[in-house]
Amino acid sequence: MVKTRFAPSPTGSLHIGGLRTALYSYALAKSQKGKFVLRIEDTDKKREVPGAVDTIKKNLKIFGLDWDEFYIQSERVNSGIYQQAAEKLVADGHAFYCQCEAKNAKKEGFSKILRDPCRDKNLISGAVKLKVPDNETVSFIDYVLNKKIVWNSSEVADTTLLKSDGFPTYHLAVVVDDSDMGITHVFRGHDWLPSTPIHILVYKYLGLKMPEIGHLTDILDPTGKGKLSKRKGSVSVEGFLSEGFLKEAILNFIMLLGWAPKDNQEIFTLTEFVEKFGRVGLQKSNPIFNRDKLLWLNSHYIQSISKEDLAKRIYDFYDHRYGLGLIKQIVPLISTRIRLLSEFDKMAKFFIEAPKVAKTDFPTNDYLKHLSCAYDTLLKVEKWELDNINSSLMDMVAKQGFKVGKFFMDLRIAITGSKVTPPINESIVILGKSETLSRIKKLLN
Ligand code: GLU
Repeated sequence: MVKTRFAPSPTGSLHIGGLRTALYSYALAKSQKGKFVLRIEDTDKKREVPGAVDTIKKNLKIFGLDWDEFYIQSERVNSGIYQQAAEKLVADGHAFYCQCEAKNAKKEGFSKILRDPCRDKNLISGAVKLKVPDNETVSFIDYVLNKKIVWNSSEVADTTLLKSDGFPTYHLAVVVDDSDMGITHVFRGHDWLPSTPIHILVYKYLGLKMPEIGHLTDILDPTGKGKLSKRKGSVSVEGFLSEGFLKEAILNFIMLLGWAPKDNQEIFTLTEFVEKFGRVGLQKSNPIFNRDKLLWLNSHYIQSISKEDLAKRIYDFYDHRYGLGLIKQIVPLISTRIRLLSEFDKMAKFFIEAPKVAKTDFPTNDYLKHLSCAYDTLLKVEKWELDNINSSLMDMVAKQGFKVGKFFMDLRIAITGSKVTPPINESIVILGKSETLSRIKKLLN
């Protein structure tokens, strides 16, 4: 059975690249009726950010990436599995105890000395480090790149596997856990590739079967230069959601950020993606984060989910600042005019708040004549319905010899304070007769 896992460290928000790793892992497992595991890799307690585990779980749930099994690595330490593996490596001569003070690579930079001074001291306690042999070939076939990657072990450092406090490092825990949990396929970020020779050696020395491992491409910044970075906009899943992207658009976008179907299908539900996903479509070159495409997908989903659903999402997006009933009335007028949920406000604010309009907002002084005729006409409309409003205004405009475009622009500005709005007559139906008249009157006084 295919079994995959997503193994984030709880060090902050979920990066869009992390969501892609989770999605591809989920899809590979589910496409084969296999299992998907969520494993929190929290053995580096110093780097843990409070609340990060909940954020990861919440976000995976939002996108429908439900896991079949859940583990927290630190909770497994007491079982002794990592300790036993480390001791076996020492006993077999593939690892050694080291009593040097732990270095802080972040502060001091990575050490250029690959061979540890304690490796031949035969110490009997301390941290456990891998005793990397010299001049051996270490290789594997990358599942994504579909090519053999080769290292000379002389380039690989004696790496800490178990710290002196008994906690495993990532390098030991990932091997022990992937094996213990029966993981058959691993997707992970490209930045983990330099760690892979360490893992290959640990698998070999522990006599464990290594899963297929594939390193996903880097997601490049929209300019194509360098990795996607915060300076150019959101990188976290939460960032995109709070910008007003729909979960369907985000998910659909990352489906195609490193994988392509045989045909040119662009729109996928999660179920369709799972059906089609496989190794064959995995791309080997780094995809560019094309924000316009994400916006295009977002418009697509804004228009294709039901109006009811869209209204509910807008309601939640604005923390219920707009009433649901009002949003439901407005949604049919704006669903083709917004690309992000966050654009709703600009389009619809005038419904809940009278705009401040000044004389100078109108292109010419004709506005006074336009508005006073509009006032008189609308005052006489008895049944406040679209057809009545349309025909009364059009008749008056024709009788007065006004230019249709100019008249409605002035009416639009008076009611909304803006030149870009939902259709004006439809809007004043929603706004109601008395509010409409009062906004016009204010400008005539
Ligand atoms: N804990 C690692 C991370 O945060 C996981 C790497 C892997 O998937 O092996 O990305």
